[in-house]
Amino acid sequence: MKAMVLREISSIEKKPLRMEDLPNPVSGPGEILVKVSVCGVCHTELDEIEGRLKPKLPVILGHQVIGRVAGLGSGTKRFKLGDRVGIAWIYSACGKCDFCVGGNENLCPDFKGTGCDANGGYAQYTAVDENYAYCIPERFSDSQAAPLLCAGAIGYRDLMLSNIKKGQVLGLFGFGASAHIVIQVARHWGCEVFVFTRGEEHQNLARRLGASWVGAPEDQPPQKLHCAVDFTPVGETVPRALQLLEKGGRLVVAVIRKRNPIPPLDYSQHLWDEKEIKSVANITRKDAEDFLSLAAEIPIIPEVQEFQLADANQALILLKQGRIQGSGVLKIADQFIRTRGHLRMMEMMTTKEFYEK
Ligand SMILES: [Zn+2]
Ligand SMILES: [Zn+2]
Repeated sequence: MKAMVLREISSIEKKPLRMEDLPNPVSGPGEILVKVSVCGVCHTELDEIEGRLKPKLPVILGHQVIGRVAGLGSGTKRFKLGDRVGIAWIYSACGKCDFCVGGNENLCPDFKGTGCDANGGYAQYTAVDENYAYCIPERFSDSQAAPLLCAGAIGYRDLMLSNIKKGQVLGLFGFGASAHIVIQVARHWGCEVFVFTRGEEHQNLARRLGASWVGAPEDQPPQKLHCAVDFTPVGETVPRALQLLEKGGRLVVAVIRKRNPIPPLDYSQHLWDEKEIKSVANITRKDAEDFLSLAAEIPIIPEVQEFQLADANQALILLKQGRIQGSGVLKIADQFIRTRGHLRMMEMMTTKEFYEK
């Protein structure tokens, strides 16, 4: 199979993902083999590539995987060949520890991430325990469904942890893949949403999706925020969001790693009056399942920008630069099963197009 492989930690600008020919994975006992159709791109992959997270190397990244069941390991019973399934960030958890038993498998000390501790979806095939795969509601195309699995499911967890109530004001810092889905859920719940983001296109998308106020992080919104979610990779938004919180408000920080340190907090300005700050670690299978049915019911309409698998590096560079509208997804189509010469030509063309933009 073709796969984009990460062999060493590097800045994404050096384009460290390389297209390789690898043997197809085999579905072991309890596992399904999935023929991948699309895989979303995520900031977490930048954290892995650039070393803020420590993936097992070499690794095939990608944890927003949509594909079809192409092989059944012994003892499997949930799916049949050809079923459409999704795979998310949670690749496995132990199932026995206090966290797992208490419904917090996201905090399991043995938590394994797809495309980090095990190979993920930047490839034509991947294999996963059938109990960690999801049925995908029919109303979504493959490309629309992919971002629901991380941008959407983690965004949903962020919202649940923020404690937001109907009619309250929610602040979103950063307006990428996750935030553009979260705003649709929050609006569905009857919340008012203020969006803090710089890019003009991101601001326009936020307005179109129902933000009642849009500005830069340093701008003054018309009123205080009951809750806020910070999706940005920078540290500075943390004190800013805390400063804008209403008494008793909660800030949820939705990234796994910040690129630069959080500036020192001032107790009276940022935390007094029972303000809270909370991080979000991973997701549970229940988050993904609950969110997929909610997304179909609302329905959430993810905006997607599609790339070819061979252009994964470029897609991630654009993501780092904040130049993707909505969610980026890689299409892993059959045209990749072509001669090496043809593939190289296609890569050259798309790289040229990228630099001409
Ligand atoms: Zn992700
Ligand atoms: Zn556990």
